[in-house]
Amino acid sequence: RRAHYLALRDLPSVTRDGHKITLLHNSGLVADLPMLNETGAEGVGLFRTELQFMIASKLPRLNEQVDLYRDALRIAGERPVVFRLLDIGGDKVVPYMRSAAEENPAMGWRSLRLALDRPGLLRTQVRALLMAAEGKPMKILVPMVTEAFEFRQARLVVQKEIERLKRAGETVPSRVELGAMIEVPSLLFELDQLLPEADFVSIGSNDLIQFLTAADRANPRVSKNYDPIGLPRLRALRHIVDAARRYNVPLTMCGELAGKPLEALALMAIGMNRLSMGPSSIGPVKEMIMALELDPIRKSVAAALADGADGVSMRELLQEWVDRQ
Ligand code: PEP
Ligand code: MG
Repeated sequence: RRAHYLALRDLPSVTRDGHKITLLHNSGLVADLPMLNETGAEGVGLFRTELQFMIASKLPRLNEQVDLYRDALRIAGERPVVFRLLDIGGDKVVPYMRSAAEENPAMGWRSLRLALDRPGLLRTQVRALLMAAEGKPMKILVPMVTEAFEFRQARLVVQKEIERLKRAGETVPSRVELGAMIEVPSLLFELDQLLPEADFVSIGSNDLIQFLTAADRANPRVSKNYDPIGLPRLRALRHIVDAARRYNVPLTMCGELAGKPLEALALMAIGMNRLSMGPSSIGPVKEMIMALELDPIRKSVAAALADGADGVSMRELLQEWVDRQ
């Protein structure tokens, strides 16, 4: 299998009818970055910075954070890396950070909420990212944005840190792009406010689908009843795709959905063309892309989304297309 996928590495990720799909890695440790050379992915679409915090025994210091980010950028070379700000809380436990017990940690004091309430941690991380860029461009992704207002707050923190570094005579990135994760349903109804201010956006399907369906992502007993590519979820995703296109804002899917070939096909069928996934998924997804004629599937999926009622299985519809190709 490995040799089989290695043979695809340098081939373009394009469908038979000419649609280019950008494939990226989800990552979080420097150790898996050299995999980029094996998969041929174009960069890192999601670098989960909280992993460094989760495996440490105490809060990583500024210089430790700078070192990690600099190493990641060095290994990625010319390929872009999107660093996501700390997404701790919920299922991501940092043992040395005490937190009050919560009834619903996934919906609790986590991620950006915690970061904005305790800006010291956020400021240190932002400074580390700005320093690690060493004058090159830097891409920062803000997790768990619930309202456009919070994204604005995060941008203010970044701008302040840039000014502070400049005053101290330090090198700042030639350009800082700030993106928002779309993973809380509320934000779907504020895209007209968010998108004009975002340099890019990325969908976190793991959380978005959990919250759309009110079904715990870690509890298969409930989550199995709601196919992530079922019609209501796919309509929600298409709403985001259409809005991002209207505002001309680059959109990536970085939830686990993009790493499964049939699910990736559903995403491509509604117009997504940037998919970020675990490195081991790149080969299988690329193979699917290269064998595919996308336009006819797009038409068929659009029709199903427009007319389909309960009980129409998008999964079966897509599987039939795949079997026919
Ligand atoms: C997501 O929610 O889909 C996502 C990419 O982030 P995480 O899985 O780290 O919550
Ligand atoms: Mg998430």
